[in-house]
Amino acid sequence: MEKQGNIRIASENMMPIIKKWLYSEKDIFLREIVANAQDAITKHKKLADLGETAAEENYRVTVTTDAKAGTLTVEDNGIGMTEEEVEKYITQIAFSGAADFVDKYEKAGGDGIIGHFGLGFYSAYMVSENIEIFTCSYREGATGVHWASDGNSTYTIGDCDKTTRGTKIVMHIAKEEKEFLKADKIRELLRKYCSFMPYEIYLNPTGKDDKPVNTTHPLYLKQPKECTEEEYKTFYRETFSDFNEPLFWIHLNMEYPFRLKGILYFPKVKKQVELERGKVKLYCNQVYIADNIKEVIPEFLMLLNGVIDCPDIPLNVSRSFLQNDKQVQKIAKHITKKVADKLIELYNHDRARYETCWPDLANFIKFGCLKDEDFYKKVEGIIIYKNLAGEYRPVSSFYGEEVSEEDAKNGKEPQAVYYVSDENKQAQYIKMFRDAGLDAIYCDTYIDPHFLSYLEYKNPTRVRFLRIDADVAGALKEDSEEDAQLKTLFEKTLEGKRVTVRTEKLKDANVPAVVNVSEFARRMSEMHAFYGMGESPADIILVVNVANAAVDALKSAPEDAQTKAAMQIYYLALMNYRPLSPEELSDFVATNTFLLENYLKK
Ligand code: ADP
Repeated sequence: MEKQGNIRIASENMMPIIKKWLYSEKDIFLREIVANAQDAITKHKKLADLGETAAEENYRVTVTTDAKAGTLTVEDNGIGMTEEEVEKYITQIAFSGAADFVDKYEKAGGDGIIGHFGLGFYSAYMVSENIEIFTCSYREGATGVHWASDGNSTYTIGDCDKTTRGTKIVMHIAKEEKEFLKADKIRELLRKYCSFMPYEIYLNPTGKDDKPVNTTHPLYLKQPKECTEEEYKTFYRETFSDFNEPLFWIHLNMEYPFRLKGILYFPKVKKQVELERGKVKLYCNQVYIADNIKEVIPEFLMLLNGVIDCPDIPLNVSRSFLQNDKQVQKIAKHITKKVADKLIELYNHDRARYETCWPDLANFIKFGCLKDEDFYKKVEGIIIYKNLAGEYRPVSSFYGEEVSEEDAKNGKEPQAVYYVSDENKQAQYIKMFRDAGLDAIYCDTYIDPHFLSYLEYKNPTRVRFLRIDADVAGALKEDSEEDAQLKTLFEKTLEGKRVTVRTEKLKDANVPAVVNVSEFARRMSEMHAFYGMGESPADIILVVNVANAAVDALKSAPEDAQTKAAMQIYYLALMNYRPLSPEELSDFVATNTFLLENYLKK
C-alpha cells in the first residue's frame, strides 16, 4: 500500500536558499549521505555488541553510479528503518533539520557553519530531483519500506521487497548535475570527505578484487608508541600527496578534558624566503569537515600539514560562536602547547638534528612567536642564530645584562647585537668584524627584520639589534678622533650628497673609510618602502679612518688631487655598502683614471 503525505515544513522555500549559499560546496551531500550510512552501521554494531541482535561480519557501504539510469546510490547494511522511523527521521527530522540549518545559516550571514556541517540527508536534494529510500530494519519481522520525494512538499511511503537489513538511498541526479554520475568524480569526493570513515566504502564493486576507497583505521587513531617511522611517512605521503619527506611530526592523542587525536607534520620548506601554506584537515569522528579552520587551529600552525580529529567541537554552530567558545579556545591552546613541547624536546635531546632542521623551522617558529605570545614564551629559549664562527647559539645568549632605569637615564644603552642580513653585500663589514675579533649573527630570512624588532620589544633593557653596517665606527673604533681638517675636506668634496662625515681612529688601519647608515634611519626608510610610501634612502654617514696611511697622506697632498682622492675614498667605502649608480660609476672611473695618470707621471 502506497501512502501519500505532506511535509509539514514549507520546504519549497528552502531549496533555493540552500542552493544559493552552498553552490560551491554542493559536494558535501555525499559526505552527509555516506556519514549517515556509517552511523547506521555503528548503531547496529553497538546493538550487536550488546547482544541485542546477531553480529555482522561484513559491514560495508556501497556506492554505485549508474549513468544510464541517472542514479547515484548509497547502500549500507546498518540498522535500517521501520516505516514509523522513516516517517519520523526522514519526513520530520531530516526536513526540520534542514530548516534549522537554513535558519542558523541565515543568522550567521551566509557563511557561518563550519564545513557546512549539519545539513544532513536533505542536502542530497542539492543534486537530485528525486530521492528514493529502500530500507529494512534490523528488527525481527521487519519488512521493506519504500519512501520517495522530490524534496518539495509531498512524499509517498509504502512497502517494497527489500528483505536484507539496511538502507539504500537512490538519488535521481538532476539534469544539470550530471557530473555526479561519473565514477571519477565520486571517487574524488569519497577520497576527500570519507577517507578515514570507520567502515569500508566500495565504489562500483565488481565482486572481484575490490578495494575500499577509505582507510578504516587511520594512523592517527593508533597509540603513538605503536606507530613506526615508516607508517608516519606513508600516512603523510598518502594524505598530502607530498613526496618530500616531512621533517618530523607530532602525534596528538588525548582523551581528557576533551578528545583530540591527530598528527601534525613539519614539511620541508621549499624556498627559504617563503612561508608556504600547509593544510590542516579537521575531522570529527573520522568525518572530514574542512581545511584550515582558523577558529580551531591557530593560524601559524596552518603552515604545517596535518590531520586533527576532534569530536568535541560543536560543528553545527556559526563560526563566530566557535571563535568565542571556551572549549574551542582550549583546544587551540593545547595544540599550540604540544607543538612547542615537541620542539623543545627535540632541542634538548637531539640538538644536532634540531640545528639541521632549523632552516626549515625558523620561519615557522618566528612567525608563531609574532602571532602568539604564549608560544613565544614557551619557545623563547630555543630560538637560535648562527654567529660569524658558524655556530648556532640561542639568541638570548647574545643579550647583555639588564640596563637599570637609572643607568638608562644616564644614557646607557642595552647591549648592541650586530647582525648580517646579506652575507655577500656585507662581506667587507664581516671581514672587518672578524679581523677585530667581534661577533655578529646571521639574520637572512625575510621575517627577521620584523622578528628582531619583536625581540627588542620583548627585551627592551637587554638588547638592541644593529645591522652590521649600521655602526661600524661604534663597534670598531679604537678612539674617537676629531680631525677638523679631514672633516672639512670630505664635507666640501661631498657637498650636496646627503652624507654626514665623521672621523674616527679605527682598529683596522687598512680601511680608509666605511659607510654607516643608522639603524633607525634605515628601518624608517625600509618601512616607507614597505608601505609603498616611496623610497627615501636613508642618509649615509661616512666614517673616515684617521689611522689609515692614505687618509693621512691626503692631508698634505696637492689641492686638486686632494678632492679627487677624497672622492675616491668615498666611492670605495660606498661600494662596500651598495652598488654604485651609473652616474657614480662613470665618475668613479674618471676619478680613478685621473689619479692613475697623475701618480704614474711622477
Ligand atoms: P542527522 O544525521 O544529523 O540526524 P539527517 O537528516 O542526515 O540528520 O538524518 C536524519 C535521520 O535519519 C538520522 O538521524 C537517522 O536516524 C536517519 N537516517 C538517515 N540515513 C539513514 C540510514 N542510512 N540508515 C538508517 N537511518 C538513517
